Amino acid sequence: MKTIQLDGSSGGGQMLRTALSLAMVTGQAFRMTNIRGQRRKPGLMRQHLTCVRAACEISNGTADGAEIGSTELVFRAGKVRGGSYQFAIGTAGSTSLLLQTLLPALWSAKEPSVLRLEGGTHNPMAPPADFIGRVFLPAMAEMGATAELRLIETGFAPVGGGVIECEVEPCAKLHRIEWMERGELREKSIRVPVRDLPMSIAGRVLDSALAAFPCEDAKVVALPEGPGRGVACFVEASFDHGNELCATFGEHGTSSEKVGRRAAKMMNDFIGNGAAVGRHLADQLLLPMALAGGGRFTTMPPDSHVPTNIAVIEEFLPVKFSCEKGDNGVCEVSLRSRDSRAD
Ligand code: ATP
Repeated sequence: MKTIQLDGSSGGGQMLRTALSLAMVTGQAFRMTNIRGQRRKPGLMRQHLTCVRAACEISNGTADGAEIGSTELVFRAGKVRGGSYQFAIGTAGSTSLLLQTLLPALWSAKEPSVLRLEGGTHNPMAPPADFIGRVFLPAMAEMGATAELRLIETGFAPVGGGVIECEVEPCAKLHRIEWMERGELREKSIRVPVRDLPMSIAGRVLDSALAAFPCEDAKVVALPEGPGRGVACFVEASFDHGNELCATFGEHGTSSEKVGRRAAKMMNDFIGNGAAVGRHLADQLLLPMALAGGGRFTTMPPDSHVPTNIAVIEEFLPVKFSCEKGDNGVCEVSLRSRDSRAD
């Protein structure tokens, strides 16, 4: 089998993670050059390297170029084996993104798995563990793939120290999705988890989120003592078909009010748009959808993760995505199988 040649210059870590997942599921080797070419500091960082090492371990695979800073990697998977695995990123790098890299392979394994992952659980620019548990995994369960996530320890960036555990059941075949309508809004809530910061900060985050997104079920969640400090704002809504969770994180130089207002605005934008699938879930659904061999959903105008992820997926699988923007600002992403890789 030939080695698939990939150029990572148009994207970030997701292109590499998607390639690792698909290499494990399909058994096809790849070489990626210009890894994370769009990032200020390109190449493998700790979190990406941990994904590579974890992929080697669960699939009995090999990797050339698996070093910090490396911009080129050749990965060959062997046979994926379910089982009990533990991986520590060693920084606040996202455990959610590591989990998402491994899940497709572990679903394809014959045996169930139990994972324990250490690193960040509440990172800006990555899905917080709550998003995985409340949005991504329920969507995957509808596609027939189950996994149960437990947040053991919250790890805020930049310290990390978070822990998630996940039990994964094998899944012989993913079902196609057809998510065009989200249906009625059923429940909404706001949670502001906080650790080792003045309660007044969390209160200001909550109040400003509430002012923009009124709801009865809204509270600050004071986390027990643990590694690092931080505050987040999770604005969540459940619809007839699917959930959305919009997350923001406190950071130096950003007011508490802005943290709350931004999470509420993201949710209001999603509700106002009318699509069935939120912006982040959209790029995370592409790979499972391709493994299912077809499907379609509506989403908001996608960011750059969608085209770059599609480019990688179409190298591994005989599928063709299309992404069409309607006049109302709703986009339809659909996928069809290609009978032959030559067309
Ligand atoms: P890099 O280190 O190169 O920036 P990365 O590995 O951190 O890359 P990206 O390639 O940017 O990551 O991919 C980030 C992923 O996290 C995407 O799937 C994106 O949709 C998702 N994501 C980012 N923020 C959120 C959020 N608030 N909620 C849910 N998902 C998110």
